[in-house]
Amino acid sequence: MPALLRRHLLLGLATTAVALHAASPSKAQAPASAGPPDPALVEDLVAANRILVDQGVVDGYGHVSARHPASAERYLMARSIAPELVTAADIMEYDLDSVPVDARGRGSYLERFIHGEIYRARPDVRAIVHNHSPSVIPFGVTGVPLRPLYHMSAFLAGGVPVFDIRQASGGMTDMLVRDAALGRALAGTLGAAPVALMRGHGAVVVGPSLPVVVFRSVYTEVNARLQAQALALGGAVTYLDPEEARRAEASITGTIGRPWELWKRKAQGR
Ligand code: MN
Repeated sequence: MPALLRRHLLLGLATTAVALHAASPSKAQAPASAGPPDPALVEDLVAANRILVDQGVVDGYGHVSARHPASAERYLMARSIAPELVTAADIMEYDLDSVPVDARGRGSYLERFIHGEIYRARPDVRAIVHNHSPSVIPFGVTGVPLRPLYHMSAFLAGGVPVFDIRQASGGMTDMLVRDAALGRALAGTLGAAPVALMRGHGAVVVGPSLPVVVFRSVYTEVNARLQAQALALGGAVTYLDPEEARRAEASITGTIGRPWELWKRKAQGR
């Protein structure tokens, strides 16, 4: 091979290598930490995991996260572990692409993109629960809308959208929100609502704090159970009027600390 041609080839290879390296500088680099979170928030996040188990909202599956108090671009969530087993040492920090800041060999939930993409789309949201809450499943697959029929679930009055992953992906999936594109589609379906159902899968619940998102998760499950019972009785169901819902939510919101303290104490007593 002529020396000049050989030199060009080598130069070309080197340029390609530099270009490839430059195209993915972040792959090898973990995102920066927003700093250690407030221990009281971590304590609440651990408690939230256990409360959601106690209340039948999550089982061996499901997860709950909180936005990092020091940065809107970071959130906190347990490593991939059953919620009942979560301790403070399991809490990891993620950026909004759901890349862990400091994995140290700890695995991540496959569906963490639910959290990252909703935090990105909803600046008002500071806590998120994803669950397979059993009583909500029928409302995600029948077209029967989930609606508030008592004061505890007044927050559902604006409507509960249903996310269909088949429409979002344009084909067959394993039903899991396992990448950012599906997470963005779910966030789009959720819109400004506090709850979205996921067809054939479960639900996502959001709120301004851990106590509120836990409260909403518990009473979404209870409302779904009660609504199915009311529908099964066969008569016409009277749901909350939007004005009743507005007033009831305003009243109940001020009392959420009461069940939260009870649930937290029980969860910590185990
Ligand atoms: Mn799931």
